[in-house]
Amino acid sequence: MKCPFCSSFDTQVIDSRVSEEGDTIRRRRRCTGCDRRFTTYERIDLLMPAVVKRNGSRIEYDPAKLRASLDLALRKRPVNTTDVDAAVVRIQESLLVSGLREVESSYLGELVMNELKKLDHVAYVRFASVYKSFQNINEFVKEIDEIQVPPKS
Ligand SMILES: [Zn+2]
Repeated sequence: MKCPFCSSFDTQVIDSRVSEEGDTIRRRRRCTGCDRRFTTYERIDLLMPAVVKRNGSRIEYDPAKLRASLDLALRKRPVNTTDVDAAVVRIQESLLVSGLREVESSYLGELVMNELKKLDHVAYVRFASVYKSFQNINEFVKEIDEIQVPPKS
């Protein structure tokens, strides 16, 4: 990267740090020409689709909100953080590869349910009972029956 002070192209990275949220890398650079230092930021250039709520309003996709809803469903369940992180990443990847500019909140809910189903069946039912708003009791019973099948190892 070109030095902003003397325009030399010969600069070195002397320190790299990932932000707390993990979405930005901050690099300290030193110019070998004039020895001055400057900072650059590297961030992912991807657009997440907007989320269309049931009432038709649009909200920005919020990774913290997604994570919070997973954590709530998984509260006090024996699932480790690494697995939850991986699930969040998979959900985000699905949204990105969809290439859609908007997704229905129910679609996002389905993605979450698919992940919870794999992680923990109790968490899955907790989430599903809130988000899926079961059409009738038979549908709910069917879901319960499905989750009583022992998980594949
Ligand atoms: Zn320089």
